[in-house]
Amino acid sequence: MYLIKCWIEHPVNKLDKTFDYMHNETIITGVRVIVDFNNRKLIGFVDSCEKIDNLIKLEEDLGYKLKPIEKILDKESLITKELFKLGKWMAKDTLSPTIACYQTMLPNKIKPSSNKEKLVYIKMVKINDNKEKLTIKQQAAFDYVKENGPISLTDLNKAFPNMSRALIKKNVIDVYEVLKSGSLKLNEVEKEEFLDLTTYQKEAMDKIVNSDKQTILLHGITGSGKTEIYLHLAKKIIEEGKQVLFLVPEISLTPLMVKRVRSRFLDDVAIYHSNLSSQEKYEQYRKVLKNKVKVVVGTRSAIFMPFSNLGLIILDEEHDLSYKQENTPIYHCRDIAIKRAKNFNCKVLLGSATPSLDSYARALRNVYELVELPFRINESLPTIEIVNISKSMRKKNSYMISDVLKEKIQDRLNKKQQIILLLNRRGFNTSLRCYNCNHVIMCPHCDIAMSYHHDIKMMKCHMCNAIKPVYVICPDCGLKNTFYGYGYGTQRLEKEVQTMFPNARILRMDSDTTRRKNSHEYIFNEFSKHNADILLGTQMISKGLDFPNVTLVGILNGDAGLSRLDYRSQELTFDLLVQASGRSGRSHLDGEVVIQVFDEDNHVIKSVLKQDYKGFFMSEMKYRKAGGYPPYNYLIALIFYGRKNDVVSEDAYNFISKLKGNFSILGPSDLLKLSDQYRYRIILKGKNLEEMKQAIRNVKDNIDIKSNLRIDVNPMILD
Ligand code: ADP
Ligand code: ZN
Repeated sequence: MYLIKCWIEHPVNKLDKTFDYMHNETIITGVRVIVDFNNRKLIGFVDSCEKIDNLIKLEEDLGYKLKPIEKILDKESLITKELFKLGKWMAKDTLSPTIACYQTMLPNKIKPSSNKEKLVYIKMVKINDNKEKLTIKQQAAFDYVKENGPISLTDLNKAFPNMSRALIKKNVIDVYEVLKSGSLKLNEVEKEEFLDLTTYQKEAMDKIVNSDKQTILLHGITGSGKTEIYLHLAKKIIEEGKQVLFLVPEISLTPLMVKRVRSRFLDDVAIYHSNLSSQEKYEQYRKVLKNKVKVVVGTRSAIFMPFSNLGLIILDEEHDLSYKQENTPIYHCRDIAIKRAKNFNCKVLLGSATPSLDSYARALRNVYELVELPFRINESLPTIEIVNISKSMRKKNSYMISDVLKEKIQDRLNKKQQIILLLNRRGFNTSLRCYNCNHVIMCPHCDIAMSYHHDIKMMKCHMCNAIKPVYVICPDCGLKNTFYGYGYGTQRLEKEVQTMFPNARILRMDSDTTRRKNSHEYIFNEFSKHNADILLGTQMISKGLDFPNVTLVGILNGDAGLSRLDYRSQELTFDLLVQASGRSGRSHLDGEVVIQVFDEDNHVIKSVLKQDYKGFFMSEMKYRKAGGYPPYNYLIALIFYGRKNDVVSEDAYNFISKLKGNFSILGPSDLLKLSDQYRYRIILKGKNLEEMKQAIRNVKDNIDIKSNLRIDVNPMILD
């Protein structure tokens, strides 16, 4: 007999531990099994297996009888040894339940909580050695299999209806099952040659290759040729017989990047991101597990691919917020990348034109190697002009588009060049308000105003997606038809631009126009074929795009993000403005950028105008130091949430009363209600992250928490 320790998705209490079962043979780590848990059949994930010398004594020691494993679901481990250890490390690092980490690491179909039977298998047929007398029709069908086989049973039935059964009965063909594959269809790509690196690129590449640091920060301005360096490095690593992981923040927004990687490495590339179906994800996962691909291009979740021989991790746009997973286990992809690079003794290359302050600070402190590319390949940065929109409005200009921007748009339309307009807010109006009594239409589930969406003629909540009609009669003052729009989003902007330039062809890109699969790619393709003159949209259009014909970028409401109360809002605004500006004039045509703001004296706007990352970094670090914010201190945010206000608040106050250690504790603060959940937050701030984590564990394991608790170590956003 063997003692089998399993992780179980424990639906009742949140204890983070394994449970004991027994089996008459050994079971390997990382296999799913079915076990009886409080009279329910649940799926367990095998942690370890050891021989039992004396069952009676063991059961006496345990104080209960061991139950047998009921069924083993997998023939082989779903996970590599390295990933198995990583899961445990991750649970500690992020203060999450271990089983939640394994669930996040594995593709849907083989999550510890899912049953393998859901995988799609197809029936295949092939001929065997058995000789039987066949009718003419049967012979024809047999010959068809012989010539084309193995083929799927469905194909055989299509070509020769009602014939397969007889062939199977006469035992001249065999039927067997294979996992359905090939469902991920990628467009054909043409092979492209590697570009010869410029002197600057070569220097950067040498510095990366020869550095004795594990983590390298490549700070290169937009269009400085970072991607070409990534590709050269990947080639080198592949030639050494190793695998490369290429991470991008959001794959549907970077089809160009995927195309560029695939055009160099063709079939050696696997793609992994959240838009794939579960079956597709599983296939890609298997490909990597079986060592069939050399490069994986993917988003955050690709960091958990089962590599066996990883040689390099590239994290492009390392500052991007999408690298952070915001639900439990809350982790930052960069942290996992650095950990895995240690496991494989390989390098991590972080690349960005606007590195996160945390990474740049580490690079300056020599924790990371800093490599800089200060020039564009085409040697010309776009010129930026700041327009004060309140002054421009006083001159009776449109309140959305200043005369300066309008003239430049007209000029590009005349020259048949293209324009990108960024407005980081979707919908038509930000809110609707009664002109008589100022009643604002609020979300019934959240403490925020709903936005008006013109396409569906409804109010929509941008937090929980609830929709409701516009009131005809104001619920407060009872007057009829009194609601008017306030603030504008991309839908309203589209209408304004179309009225201003009736002949311009406009594409809009925001989360309302990109809900369907492949819609991002469609919009980018249309724009790159110049089937549209103006691409307008939210922050989606600010990232990674390389359209050579774009010579004007207009940013509306450029300082809107600064009104947020978050400690990181300056950094996020700087990133957005610089990244969006970087879309202009990337090729042989000179680029211009117009940024419309209310306050041109803000230090963020001034640094953007000078395109001065270091200047921004220095002034921002002073502010972070004064406030004791990261990177000067670590933060951990605890959010208690649930449907009952008093329960949630009691839990938060109870927790804080027991929390002790050498760090400051802020809160509990009462946050806005979201999706009917009341929320209270506690923040820990201090220099010793491990001590802060341990203090949380001590309280968490010793009190009874009735509401839900979300733990965010190193939170990116606090507002
Ligand atoms: P980044 O990733 O820093 O934004 P890219 O690698 O996309 O920069 O390069 C910007 C542009 O310059 C691209 O159009 C790319 O094809 C071109 N480019 C990059 N490196 C070279 C090179 N060595 N020779 C010629 N063109 C290059
Ligand atoms: Zn809502």
